[in-house]
Amino acid sequence: MNYRSTRNSALKVTSAHAITKGLSDEGGLFVPESIPQFTKDELLAMCDKSYADRAYDIFSRLLTDFTPEEVRHCVDSAYNDKNFDTDNIAEISHLLTGTYVLELWHGPTCAFKDMALQILPYLLTTSAKKTVDGKEIAILVATSGDTGKAALEGFKDVDGTSITVFYPEDGVSRMQKRQMTTQEGKNVHVCAVKGNFDDCQNGVKAIFTDNAFADKLAQNNILLSSANSINWGRLAPQIVYYVSTYVELVKNKEVEFGEKINIVVPTGNFGNILAAYYAKLMGIPVNKLICASNSNNVLTDFINTGIYDRNRKFFTTVSPSMDILISSNLERLLYHLSGDNDAVINDWFGKLKTDGKYEISADVKAKVSELFYAGCCNDEDTKATIKDTFDKYSYLLDTHTAVAVKVYEDYRKNTGDETKTVIASTANPYKFSGAVYEAVGGVIDTDDEFEIIDRLEKQTNTKMPAPLAATKNKEVRFTGSVEKQEMPGVVLDFLKS
Ligand SMILES: *Cc1c(COP(=O)(O)O)cnc(C)c1O
Repeated sequence: MNYRSTRNSALKVTSAHAITKGLSDEGGLFVPESIPQFTKDELLAMCDKSYADRAYDIFSRLLTDFTPEEVRHCVDSAYNDKNFDTDNIAEISHLLTGTYVLELWHGPTCAFKDMALQILPYLLTTSAKKTVDGKEIAILVATSGDTGKAALEGFKDVDGTSITVFYPEDGVSRMQKRQMTTQEGKNVHVCAVKGNFDDCQNGVKAIFTDNAFADKLAQNNILLSSANSINWGRLAPQIVYYVSTYVELVKNKEVEFGEKINIVVPTGNFGNILAAYYAKLMGIPVNKLICASNSNNVLTDFINTGIYDRNRKFFTTVSPSMDILISSNLERLLYHLSGDNDAVINDWFGKLKTDGKYEISADVKAKVSELFYAGCCNDEDTKATIKDTFDKYSYLLDTHTAVAVKVYEDYRKNTGDETKTVIASTANPYKFSGAVYEAVGGVIDTDDEFEIIDRLEKQTNTKMPAPLAATKNKEVRFTGSVEKQEMPGVVLDFLKS
């Protein structure tokens, strides 16, 4: 099975090529040319398999140019009890009967990005061996907080790779910053940017599309690649946990095979919810995909009106990993829904670049409305939801997951839909302990993050996960901060060093 570019349907490449390159030369994203489907029997057979074995089944169908041994090596290296603190890899908790919280944060950095970034280095080095053997891969990442750390953990000291991470100076939580600036490993570099996440992402995209820059690197036998969710190697692993969750619910007799579920996803770059859409296409019975945004509600407006308009105020919220005005992965969805029409994608995303705005056609808008429901939630409601959920169920939500829970409650009220529902939980609450502590009634009168964590533990009778506790005594290695236009220089200096 081949992959196409959303901006050039004539281009056909293998999955190894798509994963190595990250972004197509003309700026398009790679998408599968057809979506493999699982039969009922194939899905039922997954019930008795481990997470790694379910991942094996799914990757075997998506990465058809990998040998069975290569797929095996990738899934076994990533999804084991050394990297995750539970054998199940992802855990399913219950709030109410029929409302499940899918905990995607049992990996080394306590956010859902680990689900993909623990396997991406293996997918990427396997792919590179097939396509550009002998070249060193330089990974560039723009992060709103969680991707950066998860990518650093995934790639640290992986032979033949290096990684540079850019984050918005004032746009990440204190714990996220600490996790990144204390990162260990000899092939890693971290740098703050004076700007927001979109500035970081645009800066990285500009480097990727700069041919002169690529030539300079090529002379040194270095190839740029991306660990952002624009890379297919990030998206494919995210499909696995939606498929796995459905078969797990069937196995546990929570749902009957064939019964539809809703999936709620706290959304930023549209990667996680797009993976749920792919899981649906691959055969998971889904009723509605519910897209939850914080005050940066560009996706809520888009799904409700068909108009994407990034010309709006940018808010820094208590759910910083969703503080995004350009949701890159939406391009993949619109490509599929428009019938692989690269011309309209070039038109719409050209307009996004020049005017910051585009409107999709009525027929694509109708398809979007059929598949998705969208809602948003401000900081005040996010905190109220954390408190409420803790009071009612003794379950402590992080700020991102709380956005999803609130939007789901609104959905249920507005529609009366009682379909069983899986809510993707994207981070452990201790990654955002300040806001979570305030939400449950705490007062912040200290700069000491670990003092706040201590109080949150006592007040809620919960525990900070071990990987976060370990950052306490680590040395800060990276203190640099640059303007957006200085980003290429930072990359060159690091790669030359
Ligand atoms: C990255 C992230 C999100 C947003 O996910 P997208 O795939 O960008 O939509 C939500 N919550 C947390 C905690 C994240 O790290």
